[in-house]
Amino acid sequence: MGMFDDYRPSERFLCPWCGGSLIEGWQGQDGPCWLLPWVQGHRYPVVPPNAGYTLREDKATAVLPELFVIYTTCVNGHWVEAEGQCIDGVWRRTRLFEESEYTGGAGYKGDTD
Ligand SMILES: [Zn+2]
Repeated sequence: MGMFDDYRPSERFLCPWCGGSLIEGWQGQDGPCWLLPWVQGHRYPVVPPNAGYTLREDKATAVLPELFVIYTTCVNGHWVEAEGQCIDGVWRRTRLFEESEYTGGAGYKGDTD
């Protein structure tokens, strides 16, 4: 079973297919995939103060690649992907994928009915 990391973009996006809210808690597999909590604007993983755990040093100092894909779903179940971009090693930008950038093919965005 594949591992992933958790991502929190600064911007609140809406579903490009139906305009619905997106589920908080984006995931991605382009980073270290150690279940690390990434927050846009921070170079290193950010563990919430009340999380009840700390990271080993190798995980605490992990960094993201320059470009990485993250994904979530909307409240209506549509699959939504976005691209994060690091500048000087810090996650600075996030943009939703255009429809043509989705690799899952037709029907990937699910059924709106
Ligand atoms: Zn939707």
